[in-house]
Amino acid sequence: YPLISSQDPELSAALKAEDDRQESHLELIASENFVSKTVLEAYTSTLTNKYAEGYPGKRYYGGCGPSDMVETLAIERIKKVFGAKYANVQPHSGASANLAAFYAVLQPGDTFLGMDLAHGGHLTHGSAVNFSGLYYKPVAYGVDEKTHLIDYDRVEKLAHEHRPRMIIVGASAYPRIIDFARFRNIADQVGAKVMVDMAHIAGLVAAKLHPSPIEHADIVTSTTHKTLRGPRGGIILTNSEDIIKTINSRVFPGVQGGPLMHVIAAKAAAFGEALQPEFVTYQKRILQNAKALATRLVERGFTLVSGGTDNHLMIVNTFDTKGITGKDAQAMLEAANITTNKNMLPYDKNKPAVSSGIRLGSPALTTRGFDAPEFIETADIIADVLEAKGSDAAIVAAKTRVAALCARFPMKNFRLLP
Ligand code: PLP
Repeated sequence: YPLISSQDPELSAALKAEDDRQESHLELIASENFVSKTVLEAYTSTLTNKYAEGYPGKRYYGGCGPSDMVETLAIERIKKVFGAKYANVQPHSGASANLAAFYAVLQPGDTFLGMDLAHGGHLTHGSAVNFSGLYYKPVAYGVDEKTHLIDYDRVEKLAHEHRPRMIIVGASAYPRIIDFARFRNIADQVGAKVMVDMAHIAGLVAAKLHPSPIEHADIVTSTTHKTLRGPRGGIILTNSEDIIKTINSRVFPGVQGGPLMHVIAAKAAAFGEALQPEFVTYQKRILQNAKALATRLVERGFTLVSGGTDNHLMIVNTFDTKGITGKDAQAMLEAANITTNKNMLPYDKNKPAVSSGIRLGSPALTTRGFDAPEFIETADIIADVLEAKGSDAAIVAAKTRVAALCARFPMKNFRLLP
C-alpha cells in the first residue's frame, strides 16, 4: 500500500495486519474465499466514483456509458453461468438480495417457511432478530434428529398446516445435497412461491456438481463471495419476466440507491472466471478436499453432522466427541493460527453463543493450492490441538506445522487456474 503507508500509517498497519493474517493462517471458514488478482483489480477501479442509479440504458445520472457496459457484462455472464433467463447483479450483499426477494413476493405479516437457524438456516430465513422474522411470519423447518437430513415430510406437513406464501430453501450450514424438486412439489401443493438462497453452494451449482435450483425456483438469490469466488455481494436470478420486473424495482429504488459499480465490475470479472473450464476443476477439488478433511477427522474420532459431507463444508461435533464446546474449539484453533467458526449442531444442548461444534469448509484453502494431503495434515493438526485441549505445547507444535503449510503455498502464488 505505497500511498496509504506514506499518508496514513494507522490504516496501513491495519491493512498490513490483515494481509499477514491471511498469509499465516489456515482459512477454514466455509463462507470465505480468496478472490483472484483480476477480481481485486476490478474492485479497485475508478468505478467506485460513479453514481449509476437505475439499470443499463435507463439511468438517472449522466456519464453512465461505461457503467452500462460493465453491468451488462456482469448480467450476461451470470445468466450464462447458471443458465438463467434474467439476472439482477446490484444487491450489495446476500442479505440485501434476500430483502429484495421478500419485498417482491410477500406482504408484511405473510407466512413463509424457512430453515431453522439452529439447523443450518441463515438469519434472513426467519430469525427473530432479522427483518425476515420481524416483519413476516416465519415457520421453521429443520433436519431429522437422527439422520440430520432435511425432513421433507415435515416440510410438507408444515406447508399444509400453515399455507405459507413462500418457502425458502437453502442454508449456511448444511453439508448435504438439497432436493429442490421436492421443495417445488411441496410448494405447488399449497400454492407457495419457492425462493432458493444458494449462497453457499453457488460455485458447485455453476460447475454442475450440485443440482441446479434454477428450473425449480421462482427466485434464486446468492452471495457472490463464497464458493463462487467473487467479490462480496449478491445476485438475484429468475426465469420469469414478470418476476424480474418486480425484483428490479424492489432492488432499486426499493431497498438500494446507487449500485456499487466497482463491485459489479469485480462481479463481471469473477463471473468470467466461473465460465472457464478450470473453474469446474477448482470446484471438483473443493469437493475432494472437503471429503479428505471429513474422512480424516472421522478417523481421528470426531463425529460430523449427518456423518459426512457431499459439498464444501462439514459441521464437526467437538462437544460429544472431545468434551470441547464450539466456542472453546474455535478459540484453541485460533491460537494455533487456524480460523474456523463455532456452530450449533441440530438439537444442540448448548446455547448459540457456546454451541457444540465448529463449521469447516474447503473453498479458501483449495484456492490457495491445498489438495487432499494438505487437508489431511490440516485435520491432524486440528485433532492434535483439540485432543490436547489447546495446551501450550500443542499450540506451539501446531503453529510450526501451520507455518510450514502456509510457506509451501504462499498467497502470492495461489493458483486459480491449476
Ligand atoms: N444467505 C446465506 C445462505 C448465507 O450463508 C449468507 C451469509 O453467510 C447470506 C445469505 C448473507 O450474505 P451477506 O453476508 O453477504 O449479507
